[in-house]
Parts: sequence; structure tokens; C-alpha cells
Amino acid sequence: MNHPLSQIIAKFSQTFSEKPALVRAPGRVNLIGEHTDYNNGFVLPASINKYIYLAVSKRDDNKIHLISVDLNDEYISDTDSYIQHEKHWADYILGVINQFQKNNYSISGFNCVFSGDIPLGAGLSSSAALECGIAFSLNYLFGNNIDKIDMVKLSQKAENEYVGVKSGIMDQFASMMGKKEQVIKLDCQSLEYEYNPLRMDGIEIVLFNSNVKHSLVTSEYNTRRQQCETGVKMLQEKYPQVSSLRDATIAMIDEIIKPKDEIIYRRCKYVVEENTRLLEGCEDLRKGDVIAFGKKMFATHEGLSKDYEVSCEELDFLIECVKNNPDVLGARMMGGGFGGCTINLVKKNSIEKLVNTISEKYKAAMNKDITTYIAQIEDGVSLITI
Ligand code: ADP
Ligand code: MG
Repeated sequence: MNHPLSQIIAKFSQTFSEKPALVRAPGRVNLIGEHTDYNNGFVLPASINKYIYLAVSKRDDNKIHLISVDLNDEYISDTDSYIQHEKHWADYILGVINQFQKNNYSISGFNCVFSGDIPLGAGLSSSAALECGIAFSLNYLFGNNIDKIDMVKLSQKAENEYVGVKSGIMDQFASMMGKKEQVIKLDCQSLEYEYNPLRMDGIEIVLFNSNVKHSLVTSEYNTRRQQCETGVKMLQEKYPQVSSLRDATIAMIDEIIKPKDEIIYRRCKYVVEENTRLLEGCEDLRKGDVIAFGKKMFATHEGLSKDYEVSCEELDFLIECVKNNPDVLGARMMGGGFGGCTINLVKKNSIEKLVNTISEKYKAAMNKDITTYIAQIEDGVSLITI
């Protein structure tokens, strides 16, 4: 299989006569801080060496000509008559165009050929990579000089408002703002962020894709958001200063929610604990204590599985397989849940053995194959010069 970059260059030159600008937009991992972004909490993502590559050029007219190499599909419309589909791939692009127009940024016709190696729907945020890649490309082509943070926000809005997925800001932030070998500690309330070097000598980030995506993912995601909001409303009756679970404490939810609603209690408890775990985990990383950090990842999985209830049989199995393995320092399900990948911190020299063992066990238990990726932390969206 050809590299996606060679594929888009070849396809572009077959289809269009001009020379394109080339952009790559990465997917992301999140070390800890899951389901905290829409609760105004903290997350710890990083952009990785899996990308959507885009070849883009300006046109002289108002036509939008989009080609998805991976889906072998094209979409042609123009800047004032494109229409919304049902989560069709073009929506992720049209949503960004729509945001450019709403913000009165300069935009006219353009060509775009794209392809990537981020698995779709596996929790590595191929959707955010596509949105951020397009936002960056259009900003570049039409010389808008948009601040990167504004591109993050408009890409998130494209997904929220146009595609119709109410995701938090983490994915777009990580894809746009990522930095080589650094994790981003992001406060999703203030959008304050800091880069922390990830010092993990002899340890790699290994992703196991369960290759399942249960249909529950969107509906349960929305339900979790609502349950968190309900929890906040219950707390506000006594503590009006609580505007999101970010402001809540375990003592508050023990006092107010525990006696009234067991499910809301577990959801809120998980979120509050996860924010604490993240803050303490950042301290672990600063001290170079990967063992302590890894233990927190296992605790996160436990919380996501038992209290937040967004895991599934396959993800729980993959975590159970590595839990008592001394070569795996930490592991948890990553992303929205109900499928997708687990993220594992694994001693470098034992990766091969681990992959073989897990593949066999997973096949035997679930009759499915896993796909393995070793994630390296790379820069966020950028122009490619070749
Ligand atoms: P995730 O962001 O976790 O990968 P989503 O369901 O949010 O999963 O987004 C996946 C969608 O993004 C795909 O269904 C498709 O519409 C679009 N997409 C992502 N990558 C590509 C690609 N390489 N080619 C075409 N469409 C893509
Ligand atoms: Mg997505």
C-alpha cells in the first residue's frame, strides 16, 4: 500500500493542473483525563504520528471539489449552495467552511484531495484531524491569519453544530496545538494549557485497537453529558457556586447526590476523581514516576468501566490481559468508549512478546483481531515541504 502522502499527490496531479499545498493533521492520544473535557475539567492529550494528509489549492471560481482517496468518493458543490448530510465525511469539511463564513473569514473555491492513516472511529480522533487539517489549509490558502486557538474553537464548532456531535474541545486542541515529545495539560474551562515533556525512558505508548465500535457510542455519550448536568443541578441547590463538575468535590456529591440518585452519584464521582487523578498524575510525570502514573491509568479504567459505565466487554478484556503484567505500567480504555482503542505504557523490549500474547488471547476470547500502533508524539497540524 502506498503512503497516503504519495497517494494524494498522485491523485491531485491526475485531477487538477496546479501545484497543491500539502498539510498534515495528526490524530491524538489522551494519557489521562477521560470524559472530563465537557465537564470543564483537565485533559492530557498529545498529537501522534498518525495523520490525515491534505493536498489543497485555491480555485478561480466558487467551486468546492473534495476527493476522499480512502473512501474513493468525491463531493462537488460551491461555497454558497453546499448542503448538510447525515455525518457524511464531507460534513466535517463543510462544517469548517460554514464556520469560516459565519466568522466572515475570507474563503472562495478550492480543491482538496485527502487520505490518512488514522483509523476511522477508533478513538484517535480522525474527525478532529480532518477538521483541523481543513481549517489550517483554508487559513493558509486564503491568508486569514487566524489564531490557532480560534481555529481549534471553530473546528470544534464545526463538529458540534454542523456534524451534530457534541464533543468537547480536547480532540481539536490536541490535533492543532500538539508538540513533538510533549503532552498538553489543558484546562478545558479556561483553555489555559502547558506543554509537559513526556520522559519515559524505555517505555512506549502502545495502542490496541479492539476493532469494535458499538452502536451505543453516540446515545450513551449524550446520556453521560446529561447525567453530569443533572448532577450539577442537584449540587447547585445547596452550592450555587458549582457551575460544572469541575467545581465539585467528593464531599459535596457524597452529601447531596449519594442519598438521592445512585447512578448520577457514580457518574459524578468518576469525573471528580478523574480530575484529581490527572492533577496528581502530572506531578508523577514531573517527578519521572511512571509507575505511579501508570497505576492511575488503571484506576481510570476501573472508574470508566464500573462507575461511568462507558467500557465494553472487549475493552475490559484487553485491560484485564495486561493488568498484572510487569512490563505494562499502565493501561486504560481511551476515548468516548464502547469500543476503539486501549492505551498502554509498555516496556520497549517486551512489546513484541506482548503483542503476540494479546493478539492470541483476544482472538480466542472475542474471535476478533486487534490492531496495534506504537504512538510517537509529534507536532500538531503543519505544512509539509517536500
Ligand atoms: P474518530 O474521530 O474517533 O476517528 P468519528 O466517528 O468521530 O471517529 O469520525 C470518523 C469520521 O470522520 C468518518 O466516519 C469519516 O466521516 C470522517 N473521516 C475521518 N478520517 C477520514 C478519512 N481518512 N477519509 C474520509 N473520511 C474520514
Ligand atoms: Mg471524532
